[in-house]
Amino acid sequence: MIIELKSTINIEVAEKLAIESKAFHIIYNEKSYLITGSGVKEVPVNLIDLSENHWVFANDLQLASSKFLTGKREVKIGNVIIGGNTKNTVIIGGPCSVESEEQITTSAKFIQGLGLKVLRGGCYKPRTSPYSFQGMGLDGLKLLAKMREQFGLTVITEARDATHIQEIIEYSDVIQVGAKAMYDQGILRACAKTQKPVLIKRGFGTTLQEFVQAAEFVLAGGNPNVILCERGIRTFETGTRFTLDLCGVAWLKEHTNLPVILDPSHAMGYTYGVADLARACVAMGIDGLLVETHPDPSVAKSDASQQLNHKQFEELISSLRPVATSVGYNII
Ligand code: PEP
Ligand code: MN
Repeated sequence: MIIELKSTINIEVAEKLAIESKAFHIIYNEKSYLITGSGVKEVPVNLIDLSENHWVFANDLQLASSKFLTGKREVKIGNVIIGGNTKNTVIIGGPCSVESEEQITTSAKFIQGLGLKVLRGGCYKPRTSPYSFQGMGLDGLKLLAKMREQFGLTVITEARDATHIQEIIEYSDVIQVGAKAMYDQGILRACAKTQKPVLIKRGFGTTLQEFVQAAEFVLAGGNPNVILCERGIRTFETGTRFTLDLCGVAWLKEHTNLPVILDPSHAMGYTYGVADLARACVAMGIDGLLVETHPDPSVAKSDASQQLNHKQFEELISSLRPVATSVGYNII
């Protein structure tokens, strides 16, 4: 249950009430809320006179639920607003990994040249093999921050474990929590302690409920700035890398108040399908789209088979604009 406390109750008192009720206390839009376990169905007697409003939930989707906030949550990433009433589909483009100053500078110049605003690049890569390229680490983060300065772009990069969070906060505008990292409560709890936007990718073996529960860890811990990303789940099909769950996206749009973005690159795993999938995603009316693009995918140090070259990416963006317009959205 979420209980909105009366505005006359100050923060110290709200925190004391939260401890007494074994509830989370969060402040959202300058209002105090207590979040109890989902089993609580009635406002506790000692809180009846102190509460302004309350919401009862059948499951553990509370702060993320569209029953709590009927409009969509707005999250500011760098200078860009994602979600809310913007009706923008924010393109997040760039290579899988930051590999060198030359590679990321070429990428940043390209993204900015297309009039786009958000550059991605992993520096701590969650690779399946310990012998593969693991990312440039802190040197890569510094390069991303340099791109932000030089090209005025918003930058996003992923945390592989909780020890990376402080560095990422310093150098990046968004913390990406990857499909494998999504299960890591150390990362989720560290993300909850900051106000930095967090983009959570769906674990490829998680149900929608479990995916949103990961977001609840961040929200209930005090960080309201969460974005969900569907990037494909594992099914019996092996012809493509994963299966993009568009039904799941419709479910997230219906049942949650969080901005939802899609990642056709990791779902498909092969360049040839990415553009078609991307158009299908945009046709759903979505808050953002993440697509990997590399100056020369044949030499990419990670995810070489799925990254678009710059010509393919540019053509894709042109083809997305009319699709977005047809469902009342803008590509930015
Ligand atoms: C990535 O975005 O490069 C990545 C590793 O994604 P995921 O966590 O979805 O596999
Ligand atoms: Mn990748």
